[in-house]
Amino acid sequence: MNQRGLLELPAPRPVYPARLKAMWALHGRRDDCHCATCAHLFRLAYSRNYYKCRKSAMSHGAATDWRVGWPACGAWEPKAGGPAMETKGG
Ligand code: SF4
Repeated sequence: MNQRGLLELPAPRPVYPARLKAMWALHGRRDDCHCATCAHLFRLAYSRNYYKCRKSAMSHGAATDWRVGWPACGAWEPKAGGPAMETKGG
């Protein structure tokens, strides 16, 4: 494949974990906001920050870590004092 062909490849689609897909299956998916602004997301601060979702199964392991940039599920609620809604590109 020549260099021009490589540049024309479509951007890879994000791969989301089963735990997030389970939340979407249960509550629906919202593409107008992210977990970062959800009241159910909380941070555990150790030598680095770890995020967990209160609405999902939780453990002290990485298997239940959450990413702030994931598209929200239908159980999303605004954080107290936070933005009413985070919109894409805004
Ligand atoms: S939007 Fe909130 S409840 Fe839904 S998966 Fe994200 S953090 Fe959990």
